[in-house]
Amino acid sequence: MIAIYPGSFDPITFGHLDIITRGSQLYETVVVVVSTNPNKQPLFDAEVRIQQIRESVAHLSNVEVDSFTGLTVTYARMRKAKVLLRGLRVLSDFEKELQMAHTNKTLAEDIETVFLATSTEYGFLSSSLVKEIAKFGGAIDHLVPQHVARDICQCYAKT
Ligand code: ADP
Repeated sequence: MIAIYPGSFDPITFGHLDIITRGSQLYETVVVVVSTNPNKQPLFDAEVRIQQIRESVAHLSNVEVDSFTGLTVTYARMRKAKVLLRGLRVLSDFEKELQMAHTNKTLAEDIETVFLATSTEYGFLSSSLVKEIAKFGGAIDHLVPQHVARDICQCYAKT
């Protein structure tokens, strides 16, 4: 069974990687899909985010990385996937995630959203937190893979 793990991944963190790793143990294939949102101004272009994720999951043989502009359920249908994987951290995630799961259910009755609870050590971790710390010169090596930390630091060094 194929599971789609959609998100912004701007950039990928150890929290995302934890969900991907655990998902890859549950499903035959996990496709990480970088969703490109025309209304959001990301730090990294989709191609860069894809590259960052590919390098981070190179050791996981059943994980693929792709990008898509459009509805996640449209992509899922295209891939014949029946599962959308999402991660849950705190209560505030729950409201947004439940609304999205219900919306997707109205669009595609046959596709299920499956939530994995964050591992306790990553409950606080988000892409925006990492960017906030990096912007002010703080250490992020414990939050993102080394090559991603390097990209972020280069990005902020330019500004
Ligand atoms: P989006 O903009 O779609 O929320 P994100 O890249 O922020 O995309 O997150 C993708 C998914 O990963 C979401 O379901 C989010 O809740 C989950 N996620 C993000 N960080 C963590 C974490 N530290 N632990 C578990 N799940 C996480």
